[in-house]
Amino acid sequence: MKKVNENDKRKVLAASLGQDFMRKYMLSNSLTPKIITPTRQSGVAVLLGSRPECGMERKAEAPAKGVAVAPDWLRILIDETLEKQQPLWEEPRDYFRGSEVGDSCLRSLCLSAMGHRMPIEARLRRIFNTGNSIEASNMAIFAAADIIRDTAQAEVLYEKPPIKGHVDAILCRPQDDARILCEIKSINENSFKRSPKEHGPILAGQSPLLKTHYRYILQFNTYVCAPNLGLSEGFILFESKDKQNQKFYWLLKDEELLEKTLARLRLAAPYILSDPMRVPPVSLEPDKDSTHKNCNRRYLCTRIPDEGATYDEVRAIDKQVRG
Ligand code: SF4
Repeated sequence: MKKVNENDKRKVLAASLGQDFMRKYMLSNSLTPKIITPTRQSGVAVLLGSRPECGMERKAEAPAKGVAVAPDWLRILIDETLEKQQPLWEEPRDYFRGSEVGDSCLRSLCLSAMGHRMPIEARLRRIFNTGNSIEASNMAIFAAADIIRDTAQAEVLYEKPPIKGHVDAILCRPQDDARILCEIKSINENSFKRSPKEHGPILAGQSPLLKTHYRYILQFNTYVCAPNLGLSEGFILFESKDKQNQKFYWLLKDEELLEKTLARLRLAAPYILSDPMRVPPVSLEPDKDSTHKNCNRRYLCTRIPDEGATYDEVRAIDKQVRG
């Protein structure tokens, strides 16, 4: 018999009461998702490797009467405002995110689908916000030039394996009315200088970006090949965050590269579609030496048995570490 877990209960409640009511219900009851406040002195900040520098460990405290306010109060307030209220776990998904198809670890992909999240430290949040502004600024220019033909953020859908994503935009080339995929990536000036030369339309798998920005190419190719979008070409736009220089990489869809990407995800799909969801065994794909060192799920992954674990088991392990 199918096990009824908390998520199933929520879905039944949501269906019977309506989403609006359910949202309010969750906000005011114990079903509210676990939210943490990863202040710079919290255990989560330590897990993230974002321990504050010496002398910054303490939260701003109310000074005694007549004592000058420590000048760091505003810096601490800004960082803590950016870092707080980040969920440790989100609702599990029965699909992979398009932006994650280039994740070089299937275990990591499955943990992400389970809803595992690593809170982001303030500095990274500022970097992401800047990236969002750069994307918005370019989108405004495309709109002013009247070359956005399809609704921006068109949805990418695959069934087997299940993948969902949102493109940045689909543009219309004025010269021939061709519909082209647009993906915008903001990068720092050093990476921008080191990135390959711009190039004209070539197969995605033949782009030099495959070596330097593997994840971007896999994401782009998965989007441009999406059966529901009917595209065949497009570009990745790099814009440097410091000097706003731009490079355009024009790309054609590459079915061979897509098949390799999908074949890998098909290995992991049964684990996120099973009931209960599972983390795959480490043996599912060959060891990738350097990936583990930089993986921010490592603290959790190393505590999960090599043969894998169910959703509830993984949550219990994580609870012991992060609370
Ligand atoms: S620690 Fe290694 S195996 Fe585990 S999720 Fe990270 S990259 Fe994957």
